[in-house]
Amino acid sequence: MSGLNPAQNDAVHTLRGPLLVLAGAGTGKTRVVTVRIAQLIRHGVAPERILAVTFTRKAAGEMQERAGQLLARGRKRVPKDAPRPEISTFHSLCVRVLRRHAPRLGYPARFTIADRGDQESQARSALREIKAPTDTLKPADLLGYISRWKMGAILPDTAASHAESDLEHLAAVAYRRYQSNLKKSGVVDFDDLLMLTEKLFTQHPEVRREEAGRFDHVLVDEYQDTNHSQYEIVRGLAMGHRNLCVVGDDDQSIYAWRGAEVTHILSFKKDWPDAKVVRLEENYRSQSPIIHFANTLIAFNTQRHEKRLIPQRPVEGEGGDKPRILQFKDETDEAKKVVADLKGRLQAGGWRLQGEDRERFLRAGGKPIRASDCAILFRTNEQPRAFEAELRAAQVPYVLIGGMSYYDRREVRDVLAYLKLVANPDDEPSLLRIFNTPPRGLGDAARKALVERAVDKGVPLWRVVDDPANWPGMSDPARRGLSDLRDSVKNWRAAVGLEPLAGTVKRIIDESQYLSELTRLYPDPQEREARVAAVGELVSAADSYAERSSKASLERFLDNIATGDRDDGDKEKQLNQDAVALMTLHAAKGLEFPYVYLVGMEEGILPHKRSIDGGEVAIAEERRLAYVGVTRARDRLTLSLALTRRKWGKPRDTIPSRFLYEMTGQADNPRYLEAKSGRKHGPHTGRPKRGAKR
Ligand code: ATP
Ligand code: MG
Repeated sequence: MSGLNPAQNDAVHTLRGPLLVLAGAGTGKTRVVTVRIAQLIRHGVAPERILAVTFTRKAAGEMQERAGQLLARGRKRVPKDAPRPEISTFHSLCVRVLRRHAPRLGYPARFTIADRGDQESQARSALREIKAPTDTLKPADLLGYISRWKMGAILPDTAASHAESDLEHLAAVAYRRYQSNLKKSGVVDFDDLLMLTEKLFTQHPEVRREEAGRFDHVLVDEYQDTNHSQYEIVRGLAMGHRNLCVVGDDDQSIYAWRGAEVTHILSFKKDWPDAKVVRLEENYRSQSPIIHFANTLIAFNTQRHEKRLIPQRPVEGEGGDKPRILQFKDETDEAKKVVADLKGRLQAGGWRLQGEDRERFLRAGGKPIRASDCAILFRTNEQPRAFEAELRAAQVPYVLIGGMSYYDRREVRDVLAYLKLVANPDDEPSLLRIFNTPPRGLGDAARKALVERAVDKGVPLWRVVDDPANWPGMSDPARRGLSDLRDSVKNWRAAVGLEPLAGTVKRIIDESQYLSELTRLYPDPQEREARVAAVGELVSAADSYAERSSKASLERFLDNIATGDRDDGDKEKQLNQDAVALMTLHAAKGLEFPYVYLVGMEEGILPHKRSIDGGEVAIAEERRLAYVGVTRARDRLTLSLALTRRKWGKPRDTIPSRFLYEMTGQADNPRYLEAKSGRKHGPHTGRPKRGAKR
């Protein structure tokens, strides 16, 4: 097998039994998974008997492509319905399992998936219904509790026994209500996908066996970030055939806050005593000074498996240069100058040179660069704003990944609510969302009356809307509105499947007269145009989805959107554009870029303020996050910080991130201690005296 080192080869050729590849960043773990899938197929394993779980779409794409190349051998192209390995994220895997068995848990097979907005409105109603004193618990905070419980596989009935404070008790009560409301509507939220699948497997062993029986081989990338449910699901799927290959890096475990437990990877050998363990040390991604920074930094974490990365790439270009650390006056200056630096780099790399100029550049030995070779990575969601502004001003195209996505746009969510309602009329959050959008005479009073009726009768809201016997006391316009809505949804449901998916989507947009609502809401022509275009994009998304998929259906289309296996606005597609990638460190996991700018290297940002208050364990996770950031860079890494940063409009002095001192071997610098203690005491302010008023 060409292009693999002996340890990688060993892993790739171990085709049976449990296998763990535990290795640092850029050592080719994902590549091992990819090649191993190909190897399995080459050895006669039927592609559809292989399941690979990945977190990144980019890796999924590569795996699919490699497998495709193998399968296509001798043929022009693989037919659309040819068997393929199942490569997916945990969430989409769970959706498929639940679609087959949800009724066993009391959910309809046609359940819909709530998005963040639906969740918030449901949290609000739950709090209202249990008569929680106002302002004790915000819907967003309630969702935080619920999510943590679900991630820890704590069901609504047992949450109360885990509650430690009055507030948590209240949240536990609201959790029960929230969950039963969702269930009544046939709706699941994102965390349910994992939790319910795990529940299904433990409560119905025959289902677990049936699902496990679909595969002979299971491979999992980024295993260090599995939470309890994911861990159980993997175990449940693999316990029969025992052909389980997991790869990961404990130093890159960055989802503890979402319930991931790094112990799963560290104790793999306990669960599977005969597991073969392969370690990789050679790093093929980064130039050696970058690796040096990464090694020095991560060594500050005490609880870890000792590992070193050994650089393999020959020094090229600026590769021998140390990563740069740039300091700027404030955050605007940081954004401006980082973007200027980046643009300078692009221009020096012949970016956008055409014709004769390009020829000349190449003849002179120039190595062409694309904007997508550059990434700006940051810790918090506030940071990109300034960079976006500067990139726009400098006319450098960019994509913001993991920020406000296309699918979070109001108009897109409105149309999706229509689609979800058509797929599952019991979906109450969706029904409420479009209830009077566009206006159809169903004001607050009508809505309240109908919702109350539904609560009284203990049925989903749709059942009330569906039956005019439930409409007494409604005004004439309200009755007209209701029967319009009811008839439309019924017609659309009847049309689904009889015509191409994109046709149905378009029909729903047209017949709901949603576009005229946009016209009414947004008199500004530019704004309106952008929103109408966003809605139109959904028709294109449906079309391209149907083209790619052999079993296209409205539900599957919605599943894909909900689980992030999206077609448009999709991370992978975005990454392939000629555009600078702007993303959080969490979103950057598994990816690599020739040029990386890791910005905002300040105490309070990286490490994040919350974790500074959270002690060493929390700091260690931030350090791993910094390690992930540093190890994304192939050729050149630039770290930057602002000396002052505005907070609520006021400039404040910053303290350089302790990680800067650590990675540059300056942990004996007095300012390092300053960073660690979080105190700023320049010569003018002096150390605060004991008892002194501040
Ligand atoms: P991460 O921990 O960041 O997910 P990883 O361990 O999954 O990293 P890969 O992304 O698989 O690492 O590989 C890093 C880079 O090294 C990729 O560009 C890959 O193509 C390359 N690579 C991996 N193995 C080899 C090899 N044996 N020879 C040359 N290049 C390799
Ligand atoms: Mg990887």
